[in-house]
Amino acid sequence: MKTIGFIGLGTMGLPMAANLLKKGFGVFVWNRTASKADELVPLGARKAESPAHAAREADVVVTMLSDDATVLDVYEGEDGVLAGLRAGTAVFDSSTVSPDTSRRLHAACRERGASFIDAPVTGSKPAAESGTLLFMAGGDRSVLEANEDVLLAMGRRIVYMGESGAGSYAKLAHNTIVGINAIGLIEGMSIAAKAGIDARSFLEVVQSGGAASKQADLKGLKIIERDFSNQFSGKLMLKDLRLAVQLIGELGVTAPMLDLARAQFERGVQAGWGDEDLCALVRWYEDQMDMVIGEDRR
Ligand code: NAP
Repeated sequence: MKTIGFIGLGTMGLPMAANLLKKGFGVFVWNRTASKADELVPLGARKAESPAHAAREADVVVTMLSDDATVLDVYEGEDGVLAGLRAGTAVFDSSTVSPDTSRRLHAACRERGASFIDAPVTGSKPAAESGTLLFMAGGDRSVLEANEDVLLAMGRRIVYMGESGAGSYAKLAHNTIVGINAIGLIEGMSIAAKAGIDARSFLEVVQSGGAASKQADLKGLKIIERDFSNQFSGKLMLKDLRLAVQLIGELGVTAPMLDLARAQFERGVQAGWGDEDLCALVRWYEDQMDMVIGEDRR
């Protein structure tokens, strides 16, 4: 059985690493806040002293980190992944980052005789916990196929997108839809609430009708129940929309809805809700209409 070096035990990484352990892989884990690894030790995880240590022990490295700067630091820094990487190791980065970062790391791994696949995921915290993530992958297809067992221990599906960076392009295009969709849901729920429609009845219509979506399923009830606990934070959503805005500039695509969605999440993060789930943005709409969805009917 392969040994995995798993780096980044946040909202997503912790349950992903737990699923690898439950499926019988040997896992060396590293996280900046080392105490987060404690709950994986009873499942058999071994704590690495650095990203380099985790990479040195591993046949396959998986990273799940917040953003481009963090990913580059964890790979390229002193005692980073690249410093410990052995020839022949397969590296999967599931963080959402720019295609440029993915291609840079692809080249750096190749220089060391290792392979790098950008393999961002869709599916939020619940899918990470249930092992039903979808991976969209860019890089060498044969490396991907040789390591399907690792990804399928954490997910239900892998879609090959193309050469290095293609997974990251797909992820940013995907999250453009998620960001716009989340705001569409919040705006529809705001209109219905202000019109005096019961929020739960309206959500039932949305989930069964033409406006049905994963966002409605994941966030609708959270909004009504004021549960802003984190599945996917507002600040990470904003990070993705900023990356997507950068991307459309480079590609020459006009996407006004993306820019509007980015601006709304900028507002939410500036208001101090960035560490909460992205659906906490509903508060901005509630402030504007002076009512709380699900509580007050007018
Ligand atoms: P998260 O909970 O914020 O976790 C971020 C991870 O990065 C933590 O392990 C954190 O370590 C680490 N980190 C942050 N800054 C660091 C630094 N300077 N040096 C070293 N490590 C650092 O994020 P998440 O929700 O798990 O998301 C991880 C990635 O997956 C992001 O790129 C996100 O966009 C993407 N994603 C998220 C979801 C979702 O629904 N949550 C879905 C798909 C994709 P500490 O524990 O020490 O803070």
